[in-house]
Amino acid sequence: MPPDVQDVSTMDIDIAIEPGNDRAYELARMRHSTAHLMAEAVQEMFPKAKFGIGPAIANGFYYDFELPRPLTPEDLNQIEQRMRAHRKKNEVFERTELSQEEALELFRDNPYKVELIEGFPEGETITTYQQGDFLDLCRGPHVDSTREIGPFKLQSVAGAYWRGDEKRPMLQRIYGTAWPTQPELDDYLHMLEEAQKRDHRRLGRELDLFSVSEEIGPGLILWHPKGAMIRYLIEQFEQQEQLDRGYDLVYTPHIASEKIYRISGHLDTYGENMYSPMSIEEVDYYLKPMNCPGHIMIYKSQGHSYRELPIRFAELGTVYRYERSGTLHGMLRVRGFTQDDSHIFCTHDQVVEEVGSVIDLAAHMAEVFGYRFEAYLGTRPEKAIGDEATWNRAIDALKKALEARQLDYILDEGEGAFYGPKIDVKWLDALGRAWTGPTIQVDFNLPERFDVNYIAEDGERHRVAMIHRTLLGSMERFVGGLVEHYAGAFPAWLAPLQVSIIPITDDQLDFAESVTKQLKSAGLRANVDKSSGRMQAKIRNAQLQKVPYMLVVGKREAEANSVAVRLRSGEDLGAMTIDQFLDVVLPVVESKSLNLRQPNSPASEPAHPVA
Ligand SMILES: [Zn+2]
Ligand SMILES: [Zn+2]
Repeated sequence: MPPDVQDVSTMDIDIAIEPGNDRAYELARMRHSTAHLMAEAVQEMFPKAKFGIGPAIANGFYYDFELPRPLTPEDLNQIEQRMRAHRKKNEVFERTELSQEEALELFRDNPYKVELIEGFPEGETITTYQQGDFLDLCRGPHVDSTREIGPFKLQSVAGAYWRGDEKRPMLQRIYGTAWPTQPELDDYLHMLEEAQKRDHRRLGRELDLFSVSEEIGPGLILWHPKGAMIRYLIEQFEQQEQLDRGYDLVYTPHIASEKIYRISGHLDTYGENMYSPMSIEEVDYYLKPMNCPGHIMIYKSQGHSYRELPIRFAELGTVYRYERSGTLHGMLRVRGFTQDDSHIFCTHDQVVEEVGSVIDLAAHMAEVFGYRFEAYLGTRPEKAIGDEATWNRAIDALKKALEARQLDYILDEGEGAFYGPKIDVKWLDALGRAWTGPTIQVDFNLPERFDVNYIAEDGERHRVAMIHRTLLGSMERFVGGLVEHYAGAFPAWLAPLQVSIIPITDDQLDFAESVTKQLKSAGLRANVDKSSGRMQAKIRNAQLQKVPYMLVVGKREAEANSVAVRLRSGEDLGAMTIDQFLDVVLPVVESKSLNLRQPNSPASEPAHPVA
């Protein structure tokens, strides 16, 4: 599976080294062994170093150290060299079992390991692993010897609180990556370099799309005019798609009384992600963390017959969820965001078809935005509500919907929500990275809690089946992801400014204005660059701003009533009349083409999932 960059917090999550997926297991085991190799080198350079933990993580590993001084880039080189020397020696990883007392004695000089040992359950077998002179408390597993460690690279040093707790000591964390072969390592490092150039926080600033203000508060996004234009266009497009497919648009308030969150169970099960309440006439109100309860109350505001079902409510619903400040990341991980949320109320017999049409819409979105995608089906977790038969029926429905579309999917055993199975779709971007995409969840819980019914053909009340779904997820995260996917060069239909008109001298200002007027009345976003710079500087500036089309107008063009057309790629399309230019650009915009010169052909292949 490609690296999951969306959920940046998972970047630091330890990966359990469990047999199952062979490649993932072997990679994690090898990477974790590389962390030991690194610790061995660090111990050699800093005999007084104290060691925290050193797990495998997505694409690599880290180890936390308490060291007498801050590490420098030169230190990393040194550590790498020492690691290579130890790898060459082919040191064997030797496992030893010991009792808790023995372990405490052995690690008595290291408060971190002592704390870990004291945290182990009574009577647990404790193990150490030793390679060369380095002995570590570890449950393993590791590769047999250091020579089985593949090509690696140390990447960076960061401060990391012991156990992620800001009240505990800050250690130095070294991140590294390791791969089975050199080409794989090279590809990965190249991808990272490319990703850095595309970082949405950097491009967001350069292109003036969004910002976060210390005074407003962390994790709260300010959408600047250009970013807001992109979001507006996406929202309009999506709302129309939904209306075309039989959804109804609804709006629900940003705050709600605690009553609703008691019924929904959010206060009990989700309370730690919610913000403290505000008191209004002695009733506690909460910022909404989810839109579901509001949609359910709209459904329940009147009785429904089976003839009306399915009912599909859609809202661009802004929700607020608590995220630790250390996990916030640009637009990708924030505290307030707008979901393209929908809840479908239907009969149990309609679930296959409804899930199917959500999948179709998700595939359409992937195609429009130029993502490939892969689907995961999450089944019943250990702790779950609802009987097994109901679960199996719903899982079957999801499988049928996927299979009817000949979509390959990955079965994620036990990864459903406690209240129902789900399909998670990941977008794969231009660099092959996976981003959280659409989720489709069947819910057995809320229809029970809220007593959500319809009158069936038999005249009796029946429970509805409820489906939660988002397609783009959060507008913040989706647009942040798009910035990286497109490297800031949005397709013509989404570019905040589509055409920059560049007069060569001030003598052409009037002509430039008249061209702009014509483009605007044709529905394009265009303006004249009136800055005092030279033409080359203006072209360069438009390119940096990733404006798709530049129309250069000089004396000759003004006389011939024409424009010289350039693309942001530097390509020169030559001189043409305004009408000729419109013939090029309007079909491109209209068809939401990812190409600036050609519209999407209507017969274009549907987006293919990869799995
Ligand atoms: Zn280990
Ligand atoms: Zn929901």
